[in-house]
Amino acid sequence: MITIVYDDIYKYHAPKGYHVENPSRIDKALSAINQLKVKFKKPIKVDDPQIIHSEDYVKLVEKHSKLEENLDEDTYTNRYTYESALYAMGGALEAFETNGFALVRPPGHHAGVNGRAFGAPTLGFCIFNNVAYPIKKYKLKRVAIIDFDVHYGNGTQEIFYDDPDILHIDVHQDPRTIYPGNGFPDMIGEKDAEGTKINLLIPPLGSDDLYEELIPIIQAILDDFKPAVIAYSAGFDSYMGDGLASVNATEYTFYSFGVLSNKFTKKYAVLEGGYDKGLIKGLKAFLEGFANIKMEYKKYQSNDSVRSRFMNYLSEEKNILRNYWSI
Ligand SMILES: [Zn+2]
Repeated sequence: MITIVYDDIYKYHAPKGYHVENPSRIDKALSAINQLKVKFKKPIKVDDPQIIHSEDYVKLVEKHSKLEENLDEDTYTNRYTYESALYAMGGALEAFETNGFALVRPPGHHAGVNGRAFGAPTLGFCIFNNVAYPIKKYKLKRVAIIDFDVHYGNGTQEIFYDDPDILHIDVHQDPRTIYPGNGFPDMIGEKDAEGTKINLLIPPLGSDDLYEELIPIIQAILDDFKPAVIAYSAGFDSYMGDGLASVNATEYTFYSFGVLSNKFTKKYAVLEGGYDKGLIKGLKAFLEGFANIKMEYKKYQSNDSVRSRFMNYLSEEKNILRNYWSI
């Protein structure tokens, strides 16, 4: 039985006109979740977003939300945004408490300490960093965050960039071809944390066979790091045809990411992106893997030129990783 942390407050953050990040995403996700055996739990509202974000950034969000002003050209607010974002952090906290999945909006992985992180042009629809909240709240040690959203989780990586206790493995579409334009394999963390920040790239049109190459590498790093907690920034926009990206992952990949968690007794997952089919098919497969339900999914193959580009990236990535991990 999977615990889903959810409240209708997550639908109140809504755009004035059309925006791809909108409340209908929740309905899509629920249509997948309702095919599984789940129990629902309510989130709490947190009152200390400053354990992650600067006072100035928190005030900026509160003020913009009150005035219903956009934070930037990608990221809107309305009068419910500030409160929804506090509940989204509380959703991640409740998911941590219950080994569950936080079905939250607004998303969070692009939100860094002061908002935009590592030179990103915008906040990329994110308000507060949800996946980071339980870690900071409980001062957790030895947490492995796996971010398989198709975009680089720049906010999360920035928050923990010099923290050796937090392993952050981010698998994303080649940032030369997609927002936020950063997240290359040579970004490895700083000071004592060198090697604990890992960026693995998928070229456009890459499919399940490429993700499949990464799973044993991630597994080997986890075996080395021995996390006490495994956390997911679970984005489903890498699903084939989801709309915002050009990577072609399918159920096979999302299921594999979910299965990775089964060795660990403490785990949680937080929704990031995913806009269309990914939120239905990708999310269902991920939760099946996360709940250790046996499934068989078809594996899709990338074409030869995409695969060979990926293999070039991978050999560069492995050269870096070998300095820190037994892979
Ligand atoms: Zn995304």
